[in-house]
Amino acid sequence: MRARHLDYRAVMDDRSRSAPTALAGLAGLAGLSLLALTACAPAGAADAAAVPAGPAAAAQDAPAVERGARSAADPQLPTYTAAITPVGAADLPASWRPGCPVGPQQLRLVTFTHVDLAGRVATGRLVVREDVAQPVADVLGDLYAARFPIAQAQPVDVFGGSDDASMAANNTSAFNCRQVTGGTRFSEHSYGTAVDLNPVQNPYVRGTTVLPEAGRAFVQRTPAPGVVLAGDAAVRAFAERGFSWGGDWSSLKDYQHFSLSGD
Ligand SMILES: [Zn+2]
Repeated sequence: MRARHLDYRAVMDDRSRSAPTALAGLAGLAGLSLLALTACAPAGAADAAAVPAGPAAAAQDAPAVERGARSAADPQLPTYTAAITPVGAADLPASWRPGCPVGPQQLRLVTFTHVDLAGRVATGRLVVREDVAQPVADVLGDLYAARFPIAQAQPVDVFGGSDDASMAANNTSAFNCRQVTGGTRFSEHSYGTAVDLNPVQNPYVRGTTVLPEAGRAFVQRTPAPGVVLAGDAAVRAFAERGFSWGGDWSSLKDYQHFSLSGD
């Protein structure tokens, strides 16, 4: 299913209440109001069948014939919501600095509904470039509809801007003004046009290097919750918005990485 009919009602962060410190900036991000949005149509049986059973999926009394439908399988599951809001330099104390290829005014915070690895509904946050904010929100809506789990998603500033710490925490993230892994040029993440999805289940693999370390358990690409596989709901959702997948690279594999430029 595709979330093509979202009705975004922008809610702006009230910066006047944010103290001019980095931590307060983060607190301001965390306190963003989440907007109510209209939802897309209920998912079809094929979508629901791909979903790991969560607490809300226990519609034990439903007739078997109806259990595959989202309305019967997930009676308590909330509507997908996504909010796109501005960010400022104070919101990006560790991920942005002067000299980075895009500035805060070109970036947006996407606050969205997702299912986590335990099957619970959670709220995630990704910082991306303005022009891809809506497409990324739509991708995340597709992932929610497919019940593709995301362990957690927080700006890398929560991890001091450390990609290693973010990956080790299995954090899904996007903007981070940093060099490419193993290189010196700006990463695609520096432009806010790349997303790393579930780094533990989808590690970066180059020769014997595996990042994060916990990703070694997922070097053999076999189906499991949160694992991205060729042609699956995640790859398709990103591909529809022009993002290519690092799992398709030949020189190395970056299974967590989806980028607009292909880098
Ligand atoms: Zn990446």
